[in-house]
Parts: sequence; C-alpha cells; structure tokens
Amino acid sequence: MKEIILIKVGEIVLKGLNRKSFESMLIRSIKHALNGTSQCKISSAQSTIYVEPCYEDADIDEICERLEKVFGIVAFHRAVVAEKNMESITSTALSYLEEYLESANTFKVEAKRSDKSFPLKSPEICRELGGKILEKFNHLTVDVHNPEIQVTVEVRDFGAYIHAGVIRGAGGVPVGSSGNGTILISGGIDSPVAAWMMAKRGLRLNAVHFASPPYTSQRAEDKVVRLLKKVSAYAGNITMYTVPFTEIQEKIKKDCPEELFTIIMRRLMMQISQRIAENTDSSCLITGESLGQVASQTMKAIVTTDEAADMVVFRPLIGMDKEEIIRISRKIDTFDISIEPYEDCCTVFTPKHPRTKPVLKYVKEAQEKAGFDEMIETALNDLKITYINP
Ligand code: ATP
Ligand code: MG
Repeated sequence: MKEIILIKVGEIVLKGLNRKSFESMLIRSIKHALNGTSQCKISSAQSTIYVEPCYEDADIDEICERLEKVFGIVAFHRAVVAEKNMESITSTALSYLEEYLESANTFKVEAKRSDKSFPLKSPEICRELGGKILEKFNHLTVDVHNPEIQVTVEVRDFGAYIHAGVIRGAGGVPVGSSGNGTILISGGIDSPVAAWMMAKRGLRLNAVHFASPPYTSQRAEDKVVRLLKKVSAYAGNITMYTVPFTEIQEKIKKDCPEELFTIIMRRLMMQISQRIAENTDSSCLITGESLGQVASQTMKAIVTTDEAADMVVFRPLIGMDKEEIIRISRKIDTFDISIEPYEDCCTVFTPKHPRTKPVLKYVKEAQEKAGFDEMIETALNDLKITYINP
C-alpha cells in the first residue's frame, strides 16, 4: 500500500507574518535532505507538508530517516490516503493497519475533520471506524486514555489520511531562517555539538579550523571533516576554512609569557575567525566552551577571550555538563569520531601552569608587544577551503 508522509510544522506555525517564508525554507531543507533518495513530490496545505513518493517502490524507511534530521519538523506521520467516504476509509484502515491491530490489545480512534463538508462529524467517524475494527479484530478493546494504538483519520481537502503512530522530528527551526554563523571547530566532543545546537536554532553554518602542521597531522584535519559531515546531515552544506596556525603558535611560544600561551592563542583564534565570518556574510561566532570545564574556560578566561572579538559569540554549551554534551554527541553520531586520539592545536605548547584568572590588561599588553597583525593577514591569505555536503 502506497504510503505518504504528513509533516506537522509545529513551532513555525507560530511565526505569524513570517510563516510563509519559514515554511518555504523548511520545504527547501526537506528537498535538500531527500536529495539522492527516492523521488518525492512535496507540497503544503493546512499547516501540513506532504511528502509523496513518486513511485511505488520508494524507500520510505530511508525517507523517514532523513526527515528525522530536518530542523523545523516537530513530528511526522507515515500515512495512507483513502477516498473521502466511510467505505474507503474503513477498508483502507483495516488493511493498512492489519498487522499492527493483530498484535495489540487496546486501541482508540481519533478523527480530525478539517474538510467540514464531510457528512459525518468527528465522533461519528470514530464510532463507525472503531466499530468496524472491533468487528474484525475481536480480541481488541477500546481504551480512550492509554491505548496501545491510536488510529487517526484526518479528513482533509484532498483525501482522508489514516495513520497510527508518530515519529518525532529534530525540532528547532529551519536551517537558514536565523542567518549565518561561524563555528570554531576542533576535533573534540564539544564543538560539533555546539554546531548542531545552533543549526537547530536556524543558523546556516560555516566552520573555521586551526591546524598547526607538523604539530597537528593531516589525519587530525580529516577527522574534523568527518565530524562536520555528520553535522551536515542536519545542518546542510558547510564550508570549512582551515587556518594555517603553526607560525602564530610558534611566535606565541617564542614571544609571550608561558602562563598566557593558551589565552593569547584563544584570543587570536577569535580575531581570525571574526575576520573569516565577516568575509563570508556570517554574523556570529560559535564555540563549544562550557563554563569551568578547563583552565581556558573559567569565567575570567572566557571574558578575556571574548574581548578579542567584537562580534557576538554564541556558546550554546556554556551551562551544560560533559555528560549532557556527550549524550547529544552520541545522538548525532559524532561521539565515536570525537574520541579518536588525534592532537589538536590547543594541546600544542600548553603551559604547565596556565593562568586561570588572567588579567585582561596584561594579556592585551603581552599580545600587542609580540605583534601578530602581519601574521594574521598571512594566515588569512592562506586559508584552505573544503566544501562539506551531507
Ligand atoms: P572541544 O571538545 O570542542 O574541542 P574542548 O572542551 O576541548 O572543546 P578547548 O580545546 O579549550 O575545549 O576549545 C574550546 C573551543 O575552542 C572549542 O569548543 C572550539 O569551539 C574552539 N577550538 C578549539 N580548538 C580549535 C581548533 N583547532 N580550531 C577551531 N576551533 C577550536
Ligand atoms: Mg578541544
């Protein structure tokens, strides 16, 4: 039996006048997510988006798997369409749900009649279909409060849709609906999660990665590409800018006080990332920092790092525990890659006793005295660009 998918648009219904543009962004995301899988017709009506496979042999499981990663979708249903009369609704429901109903003990029917010209009212639809189900599957009983199976009939403009289960979507708002953001991405656990969280809130992403060969290897950089590929399953295409950071790090080591190595390095990361963001029409930076997690993420250290950029910096993990972050990284399938043991530039030249309470004035003086302006320009002229697709 040919199934179609009904997507309820959820949060974006609330957006009033912007609703149309949100909806069209969501449809664009859906089309993009379904690229390369079975061909589908996508349309929208009555706060619902319809995904209708063009051919009988479409791989509905794969379509659903991809839809589960589209931000802006709260929930969706696999459904079948019947003609808008009780005979067709009953026979379609009985055969479509046969296996389900056979293995259950309790059920209930719910009806939604958005086509008010349909002759039966919702309670009548429920009564009639419920009766037919009980007739055929006489082991079943009705449980209106806590049924194992809820059979829903939605009588809409173009047909009667029958479904018996809901698949949770990824939530959030459509990618791109909040503008563009730049994630500072390492190979660790945190930054891919931070990227995912801000894509969920509608940011289209590009990414900046600092590499310091030969202290960091090509394999460390490839790991970041694989992480971003996982993120792009949700976030769509991502452009990654790899910054050659070796000379700058060597200069920090040579010309700055040891206890300030990390904090100065982090300030330079912010400055360079901001320049890349500005050049790529991106309005914010995103990091995976979490308050108190390491010496460079104490309150004072974050304040000192933050001062280096004028652009707003989003730190979606700021109040999260490692455990909570790991839970998300498992869910989005980045965890196993993140724990592969490759070096990051942050672990090159780490001071034995980093300042946990750096004083902004001294940090700025040390940075200015060493002088990085020219090296920043050189690094920006030497960016490597990698395009990442889901
Ligand atoms: P992560 O797990 O994301 O690596 P972390 O807990 O290891 O984070 P740090 O290494 O101090 O913390 O990095 C803090 C943040 O700085 C990261 O979340 C990331 O946003 C950014 N960052 C760290 N290393 C790099 C890098 N090599 N390139 C780009 N951004 C980086
Ligand atoms: Mg790290």
